Amino acid sequence: MALADRDRIFTNLYGTQPWNLADAQKRGDWDGTAAIMAKGRDWIVEEMKQSGLRGRGGAGFPTGLKWSFMPKERPADGRPVYLVINADESEPGTCKDRDILRHDPHKLIEGALLAGMAMGATAGYIYYRGEYFNEGNILQAAIDEAYDAGLLGKNAAGSGYDFELYTHRGAGAYICGEETALLESLEGKKGMPRLKPPFPAAVGLYGCPTTVNNVETIAVVPTILRRGASWFSSFGRPKNSGTKIFCLQGHVNKPCNVEAEMSIPLRELIDRYAGGVRGGWDNLLAVIPGGSSTPMLPKAICDDVLMDFDALRDHKTGLGTAGVIVMDKSTDLIKAIARLAQFYKHESCGQCTPCREGMGWMKRVMDRMTEGRAEVAEIDVLEQVTRQIEGHTICAFADGAVWPIQGLIRHFRPLMEERIADYRTRKLPMAAE
Ligand code: NAD
Ligand code: SF4
Repeated sequence: MALADRDRIFTNLYGTQPWNLADAQKRGDWDGTAAIMAKGRDWIVEEMKQSGLRGRGGAGFPTGLKWSFMPKERPADGRPVYLVINADESEPGTCKDRDILRHDPHKLIEGALLAGMAMGATAGYIYYRGEYFNEGNILQAAIDEAYDAGLLGKNAAGSGYDFELYTHRGAGAYICGEETALLESLEGKKGMPRLKPPFPAAVGLYGCPTTVNNVETIAVVPTILRRGASWFSSFGRPKNSGTKIFCLQGHVNKPCNVEAEMSIPLRELIDRYAGGVRGGWDNLLAVIPGGSSTPMLPKAICDDVLMDFDALRDHKTGLGTAGVIVMDKSTDLIKAIARLAQFYKHESCGQCTPCREGMGWMKRVMDRMTEGRAEVAEIDVLEQVTRQIEGHTICAFADGAVWPIQGLIRHFRPLMEERIADYRTRKLPMAAE
């Protein structure tokens, strides 16, 4: 069933109306913010837990639970507590936060105030990706408007709570979207991930307790608190609740971002909102369901898989950022994954040996696999190397880099073997010359 317009959180996702404060207020933003805050920190955190919201940056960690890790009182040593919003959206296939920043920034700003208060933070930082230059300008202008209207700063929104909000522009490194690399970068250092634990909730920005949340996660907070946890959790399935922005692209007739109900069948999502697969559903070859770090699924699974965290995990992939990349039968899947391997090689920060060395090695092997210039036994070697990299590095980057290759081998090994056989057939006569 299609999500009714009245149940959409992002009513200006396509920028059909102005983003500014006056228009955002007409859409319901900043309505009764102080009254919500008056219900107190514990009420907000509990409501978020009840809503079932899971982080929209990719990992799907329960939001209310994450907030509850923050200290109940200001630390005795006087350290401040921070909220950091991750707007360094860089996962290939993902462009949802961009539309929130440029078309609906007040949802994010109001969400930052509510989330900040719920975790006892008196300052928030929004770290946006360097390429989102125009979006960053709009966001800053919206923050300025909010300050002018008394919605931020001292006695924010008349709540009696003081909250400052800053923006920080990144410089175009994918790894700075990893939360601890982002914190390093925000501190003015090279963006390299830190070992976890300690998690940012204990030791975050400038060593202070910090919660890092994605843009979409924070932007849905005001609507959840206004309409109630039970309204939000009425969508989707248990543990996979709410509405979600999906980025539909690739070989579809109408690429778009759309807010839909969680757990919607993949086929319905593509047919209803993206005008179907180019050439019809039977022309589908595979889908990457949640941004480049999630393994692809062959058509047979796509026929009836649900789009949520748990259903996709059951198929050894993930919802990730919900960047849905549709590939029809014209796609060279081996080449597509080789291209991703090149991306990951370029973006590795180089701290861990398995990642630094492994990314280049995998890229070179994938390039040969694309041509078929390899031994069949090398497919197994490639698979084994991905297993040796997975889980043996400082951050999840390397896992995200090996999973697409594992997905290709899991579902399309015969295609790789065929490519190798073809290469030999073509080459052998030449070798005899
Ligand atoms: P993670 O599972 O390590 O952590 C998720 C969040 O939960 C983090 O904020 C972490 O601090 C917190 N957390 C987890 N366990 C905790 C604990 N025991 N105590 C306190 N806090 C805890 O995942 P991650 O490395 O943050 O993210 C990986 C995901 O990022 C991937 O699934 C991928 O889809 C996504 N990703 C997104 C983008 C993008 O552009 N949005 C880019 C690359 C990757
Ligand atoms: Fe850097 Fe890769 Fe190690 Fe992450 S896994 S810290 S990106 S080298």
